[in-house]
Amino acid sequence: MQPMPKEYNFAEIERKWQSKWEEMGIYHYDWNDKQRVPYSIDTPPPYPSGELHMGNVLNWTYFDMVARYKRMQGFNVLFPQGWDCHGLGIEIQVEKAKNIRKRDVPPDQFREWCIELVEKYIAMMKEGILKMGASIDWTTEYKTMDPDYWRRTQLSFVLLHKKGFMYQGTHPVNWCPRDETAIADAEVDHVKKEGTLHYIRFYLEGSNEYLLIATSRPEFIPACVAVEVNPKDERYSKYIGRKISVPLMNREVTIISEESVDPGFGTGVVQICTYGDKEDVKTVIKHKLPVIRLLTESGRISEAGCKYSGLYVNQARAAIVADLTTAGLLEKTEKIQQEVGVCDRCKAQVEILEVKQWFMKTMPLSKAVEKNANEIPWYPDYMKNRLIDWTRALDWDWVVSRQRLFATPIPVWYCHSCGEVIVAQESWVPIDPRMEKPHIDKCPRCGGVGFTGETDVLDTWMDSSITCAVHAGWPDRSDWKHLYPASVHPSGTDIIRTWAYYLMVRHLALFDQRPFDSVLINGMVLGADGRKMSKSLKNYAAAPEVLNKSGADATRQWAAGGGATGSDIPYRAQDVEYGRRFLVKLWNVTGFASNLLADYDPKAKAEVELQLLDKWILSKTENLAKKVTEAFEKCQFNVAIEEIRNFTWHVFCDYYIESVKDRLYHQEEENAAKRRAAQRTLYEVLYKILQLLAPITPHLTEEIYQNMYAEDKGLKSLQITPWPKVDNALVDDTIEEEGDKVMALIEDVRRKKAAQKLPLNIPVLSLEVYAGNETSADLILSCKGDIAGTLKVVGDFSVIPKAGQGQEVPQFPGVIAVAIFGTVTKK
Ligand SMILES: [Zn+2]
Ligand SMILES: [Zn+2]
Repeated sequence: MQPMPKEYNFAEIERKWQSKWEEMGIYHYDWNDKQRVPYSIDTPPPYPSGELHMGNVLNWTYFDMVARYKRMQGFNVLFPQGWDCHGLGIEIQVEKAKNIRKRDVPPDQFREWCIELVEKYIAMMKEGILKMGASIDWTTEYKTMDPDYWRRTQLSFVLLHKKGFMYQGTHPVNWCPRDETAIADAEVDHVKKEGTLHYIRFYLEGSNEYLLIATSRPEFIPACVAVEVNPKDERYSKYIGRKISVPLMNREVTIISEESVDPGFGTGVVQICTYGDKEDVKTVIKHKLPVIRLLTESGRISEAGCKYSGLYVNQARAAIVADLTTAGLLEKTEKIQQEVGVCDRCKAQVEILEVKQWFMKTMPLSKAVEKNANEIPWYPDYMKNRLIDWTRALDWDWVVSRQRLFATPIPVWYCHSCGEVIVAQESWVPIDPRMEKPHIDKCPRCGGVGFTGETDVLDTWMDSSITCAVHAGWPDRSDWKHLYPASVHPSGTDIIRTWAYYLMVRHLALFDQRPFDSVLINGMVLGADGRKMSKSLKNYAAAPEVLNKSGADATRQWAAGGGATGSDIPYRAQDVEYGRRFLVKLWNVTGFASNLLADYDPKAKAEVELQLLDKWILSKTENLAKKVTEAFEKCQFNVAIEEIRNFTWHVFCDYYIESVKDRLYHQEEENAAKRRAAQRTLYEVLYKILQLLAPITPHLTEEIYQNMYAEDKGLKSLQITPWPKVDNALVDDTIEEEGDKVMALIEDVRRKKAAQKLPLNIPVLSLEVYAGNETSADLILSCKGDIAGTLKVVGDFSVIPKAGQGQEVPQFPGVIAVAIFGTVTKK
């Protein structure tokens, strides 16, 4: 056993163990080990943003605590790491950085720039993840932008096409006019905004009579295909079936009957345009109405918009409102609060366009998603409703094609002569149809030899929603089902509707089996003021700075203990500081213990006489292990860290160590067995604390283990020592009650010292304890040595088995101490 160094140098310790663990290979998943039960973590491949933020620290601390805990539990843990490289975000940043639009440069050049930026960002984020001490098996690292990963994404596309889940169709989709691409429902954010309701006159055909329509989107008047009213609305039911003029447009549409119209909103008369919103889409389908394609892909008015053609949407709105005013058709306007959909990447208002796209048939899977979500544990449980509610609310299939560059290509070609769709065969992938020809000589339908490759690419969620299978080794390992489904899918509250949902539908469709067996949800990190963390609000904390200043172990305690799992948690510097102080306390107490244990040989068979207080702390330690194990099993990390810190700081350091110090100092022969009892207890309790803390603060606990325990325990790292099993033989409620009583007595005397403003080390000249009854008196007498030593009783120490004069028999703690304090003058 080596004495501990005085200074706790976290930076040095953390760096050292991060590289030593890597050298030891303790994070390696053993692919050949079929004895240990596997435990696989579906680590989300993060979107490389270049900066590790506190939200990432929270996520990776969660994943890592689970990984380390399960490793100690004896599982063969797979903790993989990939990078979700593609997507609009990177393209937009490249466009900004180079001050271009993607079409200004050749596609290859643009992709090259995207790859460069992603590589740079990955390097930055990886450094942060390493610095946090995440126990990732880096031999598993993958990047979704690599052709070898394309292979997997494309293979899944091909297989799903074969199974009838992928289809091409012309349907309304969400469209971002800024990014000029289709986007999925999950990429649409809903924001509250002030809008204007325009009350516009629609004249009935051949009549001076008009109906008033209130709309917040007058620019869609050129695409009006019907007017609808509720058949139960007596004001308007008589008009159903009549023709009505579309203002400014010189054409008529029919007034139709629609029960979903809310007579209370606006005027109760509604214009149906293609497409002002999702409701319009439903009505058009239901009533088989024609479609006027008013918007182009860049968000301008098309030729269908007649004189407004070529204008952007807001320009068209201004022009149409001006013309309505001139024509006397605009009766009034009023401000309203409305909810609009915006692109989650660029914040442009999302439009609905009818375009030819590739879709994945997801609607038929909704019931299976819900069933599977219900069959597995969620931590916390209520979070499963987010997935279920989202699934129930969906009304469109998933549009998987995107009109972008930096993404996995869709492995499809079109025959020049007959238009036949050629989907790649399984053996062709990875393949880029933008650059490569299909591996066939002629079109199977018409014999034509010319083909055009699909230029659309796949939604980035198509890459990342097969991770459970990919992590398990699909499609290359024949034994991939050994690791499938993933044991846990960890996810944030913000990506349940995307990641958890897409994983479910992709894997259910591909393999008829759910992708994961449990879900662990983390909340978002807020600023200390409880608001969303942002640089402009000045409540932002940069993770690299926090990690450099306080170290990973302190920061991880904030992540573990900042709040209940699944809830949003604020980042508070004082929480990290509290974590750091706890580590310093543990470091110091360990240094102290290592001195007192200098002559302790854990393997020696010398006699040991356990005292009440030894049994007391041993029993409490078992109860702690029980509580912490239960907390880890339920992913209640905040409960685990609080239990351990309270126990270590208050029960172990303040009470136990303080009360056995004296016993440990006395090296006389007649005291030897009692001293060894304190040594052994100290040694074993500290070891259990280190083990229970190991998943949360791995670095400092490893450093202590290596100095004090490695030789005795015989394993190369604390991280692979077996998780403590609760030893019920050591649990004893009576002993705990008795020990608590003795501690209460010590506390009582200390309080009296403090009340007289005396220093804690001042001796007690005489101590009279009124124990209330014989049993208590015997108990105190049995611990007289430890009590006297702890309190520095130098004179009389008497225990009286009744209440003090004029005192009731006291309730718990059941003892009253009358103490006289004073300095001892040496003669
Ligand atoms: Zn956008
Ligand atoms: Zn053909």
